[in-house]
Amino acid sequence: MQYTDQLLERFLNYVAFDTQSKPKAKTSPSTQGQLKLAKYLEQELRTLGLQDIELTKHGILTAFLPANIENAPTIGLIAHLDTSPQCSGKNVRPEVIRAYRGGDIALGIGDEYLSPVFYPFMHQLVGKTLIVTDGNTLLGADNKAGIAEIMTALSLLMANDIPHCNVRVAFTPDEEIGLGMQFFPLERFPCDWAYTIDGGEVGELEYENFNAASATVTFYGKSMHTGSAKGRMLNALTIACAFQQCFPSDEVPEKTENKQGFFHLSSFHGDIEKTELCYLIRDFDYAGFTRRKAFIEELVESFNRKENLIRPIKLEISDSYLNMYDTVKKVPESVQLADRAMQQCGITPLHKPIRGGTDGAWLAAKGLACPNIFTGGYNFHSKHELICLENMQSAVEVITTMMRMAAE
Ligand SMILES: [Zn+2]
Repeated sequence: MQYTDQLLERFLNYVAFDTQSKPKAKTSPSTQGQLKLAKYLEQELRTLGLQDIELTKHGILTAFLPANIENAPTIGLIAHLDTSPQCSGKNVRPEVIRAYRGGDIALGIGDEYLSPVFYPFMHQLVGKTLIVTDGNTLLGADNKAGIAEIMTALSLLMANDIPHCNVRVAFTPDEEIGLGMQFFPLERFPCDWAYTIDGGEVGELEYENFNAASATVTFYGKSMHTGSAKGRMLNALTIACAFQQCFPSDEVPEKTENKQGFFHLSSFHGDIEKTELCYLIRDFDYAGFTRRKAFIEELVESFNRKENLIRPIKLEISDSYLNMYDTVKKVPESVQLADRAMQQCGITPLHKPIRGGTDGAWLAAKGLACPNIFTGGYNFHSKHELICLENMQSAVEVITTMMRMAAE
């Protein structure tokens, strides 16, 4: 197909920008590279001929493509500018492998390689065009593939005069550090529903995610010379250990999958006088989520009652994000349209729960249903990240088909 070259060219242009986000930065966006990419995309949207193009000082780029038929709904398409802080995104040197012949792929001139032994999905990619890294950085398909796919779908809709609905586009920063939607101008993004194009393998369609909270529990003790500590020392570390032992040992990330929730002890810091435990609380089910928070509260209360403490244990719990499903189920068209479009493109939709959060979860909390759709990439956040050009084409086809079907 003729647009494939454009799609690849766009993708290679975008990954050349270093847009790694940075946790705990004092600015928003957290890094200037994201703003550079946003400016570049702003220009590209202008060249394409979109309307209402706006780039905020926080690096949020929005634009509008009006429908070319009457009474069509408005659908949002969202992708993020940043790449993961877990792996460098500086000087990405992508390598395009045409007609992959199967077997191992050496990355660059170093020791890194991709092997179907570790990544069985590679067997399905034989004969296709793959884009890989040189083994020193991530690739940035997460989420620049999503941006390239949205841009290409927009250009196809416009160039071929395909009947389509109203389309609102947003490219946002800092998704990987959970701050993507901090300054999102929702009032300037009025949509019936939206999609993030930020998933993995072809067919992925996600509209359920964890309810998430974090808890910090602080224990206080009293230090004493160990030689004369009998009956006088109170060790905060020991109390914290006993506290942690009360958690259900099977309900941890390393022993759960699919829709099972968990408690995750993410850090344990301290000394005899003061010890702090941090937990992540995750559950798809809202009632289960509430029960998990109550479990920690009750455990703290019971320790405060029973143990001989110098000061009561302090507990702080804060919600991080909520399951988007409660909002999505009120707009079933959002999932149905994606399902129908995939089927029309010959793709079997894979409905999967997200064991994490997305920008869509934030939007859903504000009332905008926002399922997540595949980009066609694999091994995100690592040097082994790769994407298949034919998968990206599938994403472009699904997006254009959705915009067309929504206008029917
Ligand atoms: Zn992403």
